[in-house]
Amino acid sequence: MWQAFFVLYTFFNQLIMTNLRIAIQKSGRLQDNSIKLLKECGFNISNGKNQLKALVQNFPAEILFLRDDDIPQYVEDNVADIGIIGENVFIEKKKNIKEIERLGFAKCRMSIAVPKTSDYNGIEWLNNKKIATSYPVIVQRFLNENNLNSEIHEISGSVEIAPGIGLAEAICDIVSTGSTLMSNGLKEVETVCSSEAILVASSNMAQEKKQLIEQLLFRIKAVKRAKNNKYLILNAPNDSIDSISKVLPGMKSPTITPLRDQNWSSLSSVVNENEFWTKIEQLKSLGAQGILVLPIEKMIL
Ligand code: ATP
Ligand code: ZN
Repeated sequence: MWQAFFVLYTFFNQLIMTNLRIAIQKSGRLQDNSIKLLKECGFNISNGKNQLKALVQNFPAEILFLRDDDIPQYVEDNVADIGIIGENVFIEKKKNIKEIERLGFAKCRMSIAVPKTSDYNGIEWLNNKKIATSYPVIVQRFLNENNLNSEIHEISGSVEIAPGIGLAEAICDIVSTGSTLMSNGLKEVETVCSSEAILVASSNMAQEKKQLIEQLLFRIKAVKRAKNNKYLILNAPNDSIDSISKVLPGMKSPTITPLRDQNWSSLSSVVNENEFWTKIEQLKSLGAQGILVLPIEKMIL
């Protein structure tokens, strides 16, 4: 009896040991996009509200829901193998972990802001002033780079009210649209750094975990690539197929199918989002018609 129990125990223990533990934010600006990305990577996650942990049903992984500020420490301590955090938190926490992929969401910047009515006249103005922030490491780095000698006042939240209550003359905080600053009577004067969500990993981990991370990275890259590209189908007169093919090389070369009208063909290919409108103009001028644009779900090279 006890032997059977021991065998079962070892089996489950091994199962748990080889699970890739992925830490994501429990609630906040990173959570929805983190879960969305993992789902786009094919992960079947049973996520009930207020869960601390969820098992991925079709991949040897489990998701840990944590405060984003705690994730770097958990990854350094190997409690989690990888995590999704803002680059700002990665820089601020200075843990022994590494960035392995940029994820392209939660894009924001960290900026210095001062009261709208202030006589701010350049970066030197900050010298010997008090700056309130939740990111003392990032601000200190900025001060050092600019040879400034300001005093950092660390507070954990509602940084934007600090000048109004006389706690500091300036603040450094995350900005995306600037509307929070505006409504608190502040103006943005310097950008300190920019940030987006990144995938971080422990600096030392077992080989089998590395393999799982490679598998996940392969999927993330396919999802990211698909988002940056569109699938194009168009009709072209046969005598412009060569020139159109040069504009639309696609992944290897475009697919060409004859139309019933013998002078025309249908051509399909992939085009990068950044060059999309320029290419469309070129295609139009080369005689392309009936251009259809479709989203791509995954793109594997
Ligand atoms: P927690 O309670 O988990 O500590 P938090 O208040 O620190 O949450 P959020 O406001 O949810 O964190 O922000 C998490 C991350 O999202 C930030 O560290 C930053 O990278 C990014 N972020 C914050 N504000 C914005 C914004 N306005 N636009 C885009 N990204 C943002
Ligand atoms: Zn946080």
